[in-house]
Amino acid sequence: MRLSRAARIILVGAPGVGKGTQTKRLLEKFPQLTAISSGDLLRENVRERTPLGIKAESVMRSGRLVPDTLMLRLIHNELSTRGFLSRSPSPLILSSTSLSDPLSATSFVDPYPSCATDGGDLQTVPSSSFILDGFPRTARQASRLDSTIDMNLVVNIKTPLPALLERIRSRWIHAPSGRVYNTSFNPPRVDGRDDLTGESLTRRDDDDPQAYLERLRRFEETTEPLLDHYRRKRNGVLWTVEGDTSDEITPKLFDEVVRRFA
Ligand code: AMP
Repeated sequence: MRLSRAARIILVGAPGVGKGTQTKRLLEKFPQLTAISSGDLLRENVRERTPLGIKAESVMRSGRLVPDTLMLRLIHNELSTRGFLSRSPSPLILSSTSLSDPLSATSFVDPYPSCATDGGDLQTVPSSSFILDGFPRTARQASRLDSTIDMNLVVNIKTPLPALLERIRSRWIHAPSGRVYNTSFNPPRVDGRDDLTGESLTRRDDDDPQAYLERLRRFEETTEPLLDHYRRKRNGVLWTVEGDTSDEITPKLFDEVVRRFA
């Protein structure tokens, strides 16, 4: 289905709520959308042993959040590379120092302090539609993002805790490709093997139960202020959807995207 307005969507939800699944379905349904997943970007950096990846790895494994400064640089750089920012890239963000060693920065300096909404064409054409999955996670990340780009739909996905725990327990991945399986509703064709390569499936390091509970605790701690940030905007940007399963949530989400952007 075609969009007639640019959709710039944020998905917020507890780990394991199915943000990745919803993203995949949105991309299939609305081909003008692309997705940027902060977790995937980080895992790619870990795999490639970049300076950022090496630093982020232990933080991710422990279930804690990667520092805002790093995340903002990572996301800003990705948005800029994909051409979603209408202003010319900041020399600060794109300098070779910040790219090769984003960890060297001790604080984030806002490259566009005067606000986001003067973006012009690039921000409004439907082909500039994208989903941010996993970012922003904190109110601070959200207000920094505001000064870079004006997001226009924040989806708060809610699923009861027992359903979430069950989902995490049955999640397996093919690490080299990032393909995700779930033994209850999306099993591999052969037990424990990736459908395309036949290689072994593993658990994500951060799906270890202890790490998962830590992620959940952090999520709850940081999410209320994040949602408040968008609630305070009073422009209807925040929209909540509830369901036990991804299949229950998807049709409601599709309807909302059509209502706002098609
Ligand atoms: P995810 O795949 O979104 O569950 O992310 C996996 C891990 O990456 C998280 O547990 C965090 O350690 C880190 N991470 C992803 N996105 C963010 C973010 N926006 N801010 C801080 N850390 C993040």
